[in-house]
Amino acid sequence: MMAEKSYIDLKREVWDPGLCARCGACVAVCPAGALFFGRAAEGESPLSPESTGYCKMETDGVPCGACYRACPRTGERLPLPSLLGDTVETVAARAAFPVAHKQSGGAVTAILKSALEEGTIDAVVTVTADPWTLKPRSEVITDAGVLVTHAGSRYNWWVPLLAALNEAVVVRKCQNIAVVGVPCVVQAVYRIRESDFDLLRPFGRSIRLVIGLFCTESFDYARLVEGALRRERGIEPWAVRRLDVKGALEVTVDDGTVVSIPLAELESCIPSGCKTCTDFAALDADISAGAVGSPEGFTTLLIRTPAGKGFVDRARASGALEISDEVALAPAERLAARKAARGR
Ligand SMILES: Cc1cc2nc3c(=O)[nH]c(=O)nc-3n(C[C@H](O)[C@H](O)[C@H](O)COP(=O)(O)OP(=O)(O)OC[C@H]3O[C@@H](n4cnc5c(N)ncnc54)[C@H](O)[C@@H]3O)c2cc1C
Ligand code: SF4
Ligand code: SF4
Repeated sequence: MMAEKSYIDLKREVWDPGLCARCGACVAVCPAGALFFGRAAEGESPLSPESTGYCKMETDGVPCGACYRACPRTGERLPLPSLLGDTVETVAARAAFPVAHKQSGGAVTAILKSALEEGTIDAVVTVTADPWTLKPRSEVITDAGVLVTHAGSRYNWWVPLLAALNEAVVVRKCQNIAVVGVPCVVQAVYRIRESDFDLLRPFGRSIRLVIGLFCTESFDYARLVEGALRRERGIEPWAVRRLDVKGALEVTVDDGTVVSIPLAELESCIPSGCKTCTDFAALDADISAGAVGSPEGFTTLLIRTPAGKGFVDRARASGALEISDEVALAPAERLAARKAARGR
């Protein structure tokens, strides 16, 4: 059994050395609600959580350590078992209905919409964005129509990405949740699902499906949107129609112009926690989804578990999802290899 460790250990091992991925798992599972992301200096976002100072373990001597156990950055850092991970099937897929803001093929939206409509899940914990400020927020979505309006990738970080898991489980009592997240979030959810610790079990038991998004890096909201876009290039957030990363950050603005920003110019927008991250393909998800490897208008799906396959098959049977076998994994392998080497 793991010796109990508290947020003090998390601070020493993860927050202070700049390893925090800002996934928000610790914020979501702290039973005292004592961890939060506060304010940082002007033009900066906080790099890690802080504590109110109250802790069940440190203050009251009650065994806890939920935050430490959920964190994907604690413990020994083992090499990745493989670059793209295990799969039961790999396909290119797209939504069979219009998805206005889809990032790739809208396949993630199609799988989740179909599952919500069939009742195989009762909530989706995901990251949406305020269309005016582009500020992301961690959100619980229970309505299939609402879910479709939030398609598209949020490349900026500002929120603890998984914070809404607390609302889904503790406040709304959802029992069959799908979580969508970048690989650090997927790693945290994996830890939570695998744990037999009393305070994590209600979260783990409530999660039915985990969809991971391929990820090379995320960008800090304040540095990217307020700094690199607004101050340095005069691009207002409400004028941004679409963001995409295709070798460079491509910003499509309202008049249809595409501004391409080389990633080398955005180096200072990448948070320290991303620079040590090695997982590109969300190895611990039920299904991983990305753009690379599929034809334009499709999403690459690495289906990893029987449960993941069940959700894809049902979405297909319901008519929500179309599948193609036109998928090539070499480009994804190259991105994964580069990320694994960078993070070491
Ligand atoms: C930070 C980031 C980096 C990425 N980097 C790559 C890459 O290098 N190569 C590549 O091939 N693909 C990358 N992707 C994945 C790609 O952008 C698409 O998300 C993926 O192809 C699925 O497309 P889709 O059209 O099926 O999804 P959609 O149907 O558009 O649905 C996307 C779903 O994901 C949710 N979502 C969006 N952003 C986030 C987020 N930050 N955290 C949690 N949920 C979110 C939305 O709410 C929505 O439910 C990245 C995604 C993100 C968020
Ligand atoms: S990586 Fe996630 S769980 Fe770990 S300290 Fe940072 S926000 Fe908390
Ligand atoms: S690179 Fe992606 S998965 Fe890794 S810490 Fe950053 S946001 Fe999370």
